[in-house]
Amino acid sequence: MKNSICRYDAGMRKLLEAINHEPAGTAFIVDEAGKLCGVVTDGDFRRMLLAGRSLDENLGKSDLGPYVSAQQGQSVDELLKITNKKVRIVPIVNTKGEPVDYFRYEHRVHMMPVAEPDLKGNEFKYLSDAFLSTWISSRGKYIDAFEENFSKFCGCAYGVATSNGTVAIHLALKALDIGPGDEVIVPDLTFAATINTVIHAGATPVIVDVDPVSWCISPAAIEKAITKKTKAIIPVHVYGQPCDMDALMAIAKKHDLRIVEDCAEAHGAKYKGKTVGSFGDIACYSFFGNKIVTTGEGGMCVTNNAKYNERLRVLRDHGMNKTKRYWHDEVGFNYRMTNLQAAIGVAQLERVEQIKEERRNIEAGYKEQLKNFPFLKWQPEIAANEKVVWLVCITLENKPTRDALMEALTKNGVEVRPFFYTLSEMPVYKPYSSSACPVSKKISETGMNLPTIHHVDYSKVRKVFESFAR
Ligand SMILES: *Cc1c(COP(=O)(O)O)cnc(C)c1O
Repeated sequence: MKNSICRYDAGMRKLLEAINHEPAGTAFIVDEAGKLCGVVTDGDFRRMLLAGRSLDENLGKSDLGPYVSAQQGQSVDELLKITNKKVRIVPIVNTKGEPVDYFRYEHRVHMMPVAEPDLKGNEFKYLSDAFLSTWISSRGKYIDAFEENFSKFCGCAYGVATSNGTVAIHLALKALDIGPGDEVIVPDLTFAATINTVIHAGATPVIVDVDPVSWCISPAAIEKAITKKTKAIIPVHVYGQPCDMDALMAIAKKHDLRIVEDCAEAHGAKYKGKTVGSFGDIACYSFFGNKIVTTGEGGMCVTNNAKYNERLRVLRDHGMNKTKRYWHDEVGFNYRMTNLQAAIGVAQLERVEQIKEERRNIEAGYKEQLKNFPFLKWQPEIAANEKVVWLVCITLENKPTRDALMEALTKNGVEVRPFFYTLSEMPVYKPYSSSACPVSKKISETGMNLPTIHHVDYSKVRKVFESFAR
């Protein structure tokens, strides 16, 4: 601060030097005795120049206007009361009135993010090991370990790692020979990747409504949408909540349909004690940065069917024959994951139960802290389900309330996310909706996700809710 102190009768050039001395960008003016007698900011200086003052003149007491200062020992709360958007720098004086420090108010709201990856285990260790081994492409020990460990975690015999979750679904559809002329039933409330992959496979998606309790695809709505062309269903365990798998498996059996579970938001969730992803023909996971298990970008198909496993592997690797190199039996893709991604995945999986529990605790924390707000509802707990917490979900009475609360939270530094728009309301997907989807619409426009990170500032969130409730 010493370099920012300047005498009241110093030359204008000296004053400018004091102002120019960062970090304050402000000169603290003192009298003969060294007592604070004014504050000159860069803005004040600009105005002096515009008023005709020259750099060769001297400053005078008449140049100094009113200013605020604080006493040494005042609390931050008191200092915050003095500052505002205009007064951002407050000099602090000792008992003799000499400037000794200053307080700077940054009008920048610190945003509490809605999600962030938890990489505090062996992630970096394994990643650097993979790097130093030079096995940085799509072969290496971490790929094998990740496929084996993750498929086991899902209760499946095989795992085929992919570059992301979207291509995992596309790969699964291709492995099941789903294409032009086939209809694939998808829920109206999901991330768009679910339906995009069906369209990319050349098949026709058929959008159906969701269940009001689970928010997942409605078995009754599926039954109504089945035609002779229906080939598969993609149930999405949306927001960590398992679908009604008994009902879905019964429908699939009755109509000879394939099931591709979209487990991108539900790593380790259980339906009647059995892990999601182990019910359908093939299940697809995403390891995007905000998912429960992450590899940065990444995905995996898991299955209990040896034939599908083979098919997925061949298609993932350009459709190349497994024994005859550079011979292609069909048109495939390059959907491989790198050993670097898999190294992160292996470390994530070591702590997956801990990660799941931490997320459960975050939701429990919110439920405890926000229990006196009858206007908000929590994601339902369903007896047959052991849901996982991907992003903490709440729903409000109606859309205006949801939107107003979201705005209040955002303004106060709490990043929140609205639920997905329904597929059927977006013009690109509207042609694929089979019937009205009032249930998903209602959930979509009244729901939001709260920050699901290990250091949630509950009191900050609660304060916004309290002022909102008034
Ligand atoms: C995240 C997500 C995907 C896609 O995963 P990416 O790895 O981002 O491609 C697919 N379906 C659902 C439901 C998702 O939430």
